[in-house]
Amino acid sequence: MIVVFLGPPGSGKGTQAKLLAKECGYLHISTGDILRKALEQETPIGQKAKKFVLNGELVPDEIMLDLIEEALRPGKVIIDGFPRTINQAIGLENMLSKRNEDVFKAVFFDISAEKVVKRMSGRLICENCGAIYHEEYRPSKTEGICDVCGGKLYKRADDNQELAIKRYKVYQEETFPVVEFYKKSEKLLTLDASKDANSLHNELKRALDGC
Ligand code: AMP
Repeated sequence: MIVVFLGPPGSGKGTQAKLLAKECGYLHISTGDILRKALEQETPIGQKAKKFVLNGELVPDEIMLDLIEEALRPGKVIIDGFPRTINQAIGLENMLSKRNEDVFKAVFFDISAEKVVKRMSGRLICENCGAIYHEEYRPSKTEGICDVCGGKLYKRADDNQELAIKRYKVYQEETFPVVEFYKKSEKLLTLDASKDANSLHNELKRALDGC
């Protein structure tokens, strides 16, 4: 069963995907995480993607489709941060129809530009377990240290105010049409992503008929 998570950067897709993956046994494919790892390890994909990721732009569709094709496995899967263009959405449909599969639900994390820019600008991530914090709204108990595993917290290179605004614009232009695409095929589930993480998690689970 494939569930795709759509929404602006900073809307909580990653946090919800992690919670659902842990509780319900989904495989969590985060294209942003895969790309950041590729950049860090300087793999061929990392080298091709670097300038786009660091400038808050979208990585070309061909690279992204190859990356998804390689990451997909049978079973329960959440794809977080993909598709981000209509071409990617069509490419995914084609890929899945060859495997006799289909997108079961597209979950849209609906939230205002103002809120996501604030969320992105203060976001901190654990370099060890990937837990997500916010300097103001969800600080860790000890500054700079993860509550879950004691790992060090870091700020993503693209989580500054200037790039947050640019990434939101890219989302509006390139990704919002994907929301309409899934609406037409009646697979869309819209969530109010300004709610707190726990309420959102419960709502999401209910909408997916539990685990
Ligand atoms: P994220 O962690 O989802 O905010 O992604 C970080 C960055 O990775 C984005 O700003 C893009 O540069 C790149 N990226 C992630 N997913 C995609 C995608 N589906 N298509 C194109 N670029 C992507």
